[in-house]
Amino acid sequence: MAAQSSGPVETPHEWRPARFMVIVAHPDDADFGPAATAARWIDAGSAGWLVCCTSGDQGGEDHAADPLELAAIREAEQRAAAAVVGYEGVSFLHQPDGALANDLALRELLVREIRTFRPDAVLATDPETLFHGDGGINHTDHRAAAIAAVDAVYPAARNPMSFPWLARDGLAPHEVRRLYLFWSNHATARVDVTATIGRKVDALRAHASQIKHPEKLDERMRAWAREEGAAIGVAAGEAFRVIVIDEDPDDGSPEGTDAAEAEAAAAEAASQER
Ligand SMILES: [Zn+2]
Repeated sequence: MAAQSSGPVETPHEWRPARFMVIVAHPDDADFGPAATAARWIDAGSAGWLVCCTSGDQGGEDHAADPLELAAIREAEQRAAAAVVGYEGVSFLHQPDGALANDLALRELLVREIRTFRPDAVLATDPETLFHGDGGINHTDHRAAAIAAVDAVYPAARNPMSFPWLARDGLAPHEVRRLYLFWSNHATARVDVTATIGRKVDALRAHASQIKHPEKLDERMRAWAREEGAAIGVAAGEAFRVIVIDEDPDDGSPEGTDAAEAEAAAAEAASQER
């Protein structure tokens, strides 16, 4: 989205999750997406996890190529990029590239991921983006991964009756409190990523099989970030549509959240003693 040229129109977004999960369709989506915000949060002490629904096995132009070989290359590229950003790990769900569907099988896989890592916030593409602003069609897999992520977050991940065998197996329900939707036509928040935009470019360079003009990558990414940054008066920004599902127990700082959770646990223990 184009920023105002008349100076900053909003303040930088400062809320930070203690734990976050990025859910995307393809290897490289997360790095073209919120990588600089992820790096900023990780540098500040957050723990991040990346989930790729497919391994990008259709992401080439050679019809004779072996899709399994391409998938292996792209997984290796994504793992290298994730290490640059600083994620604790990457999960590949091995769904079909180009044919991703928001079905119950994918939802269960995503609920497993969410209940295992237990993020405060999930980052995904905006499921309402069919067209990118005034040009470009949002890939069908991006839309499918986006709505699958939303449906997994709410209500499935928090509902013990949803996929009940998961709770019986020890994967307790979990409440994700916020969604951060990127590639949105309705951004509501911008994060200052001046300090980490270089990491985003470095992460993208790891996707060598997908980058056609590596010499132009740095300027291209910094130009996008400059537009978003202008709205908040900084050199580089990333934009999100933020959906708050549940308010924080207190002021939202990770430390404060831990304190509030400890308080709630103590209160529960006290009530059980009675
Ligand atoms: Zn993609």
